[in-house]
Amino acid sequence: MCTTCGCGSGEITIEGTPAQGDRAHVHAHGDHHQDESPAHGRIVSLEQEVLAKNQLFAERNRGWLEGRGVLAVNMMSSSGAGKTTIIERTIREWGGGVPISVLEGDQATSADADRVRAAGAAAVQINTGAGCHLDAHMVAHGLERLRPPRDSVLLIENVGNLVCPALFDLGERARVVVTSVTEGDDKPLKYPHMFGAADLLLLNKIDLLPFVRFDIDRLTQSAREVNPRLKILPVSAQTAEGIVDWYRWLSAQRVCD
Ligand code: MG
Repeated sequence: MCTTCGCGSGEITIEGTPAQGDRAHVHAHGDHHQDESPAHGRIVSLEQEVLAKNQLFAERNRGWLEGRGVLAVNMMSSSGAGKTTIIERTIREWGGGVPISVLEGDQATSADADRVRAAGAAAVQINTGAGCHLDAHMVAHGLERLRPPRDSVLLIENVGNLVCPALFDLGERARVVVTSVTEGDDKPLKYPHMFGAADLLLLNKIDLLPFVRFDIDRLTQSAREVNPRLKILPVSAQTAEGIVDWYRWLSAQRVCD
């Protein structure tokens, strides 16, 4: 069990490459479980150890990515907020001749990696088993398979939940949290770690605003309360409303290289 978030470690599988392929099996969070024993009994210490080990892998990933000019963006949300749909549209529409590749995180299935490949990008699926988040060690193995090209963009779609993914640095350059108008406008206050750690909030499904009770001003206010520097972009991945602003933001991150 992960001492940081309580999720089960299980067996991690990393599947597929741009050319498809076999499946690899890695252990969650590196090999920190080897010295996890009931006798240890110091949960806080173990938690620090897990996060310290993750940070080591994260810094390695960051160095590897930056050395190749790869802009890595960690995309997080609750399940069903529309991350994959945003990624599909981005692959199809975002110009500039910049290759996009994708690491997909889900507990099971390669459904999202299949969708991403169908949209035209290279993708590797990481299945976390009982785990509720990606960690930097999983991403390191995913990168070994994906091998994103130099001067490209890597989108990392994290496992869908607003809690644990916020704790784990993957070596990304930027963090995006996606929330949707069907989820309620009070999410930032309920999940301050997630919204506090993000660089950008994509408010998705704004095409549904006429049909739901959702106050954008309230969302903005609560988001700014936990993260005053958070940029907020309302979008619809279905109708493309506002989506150009997301593409502009993505382009600006590359300019920052
Ligand atoms: Mg998805």
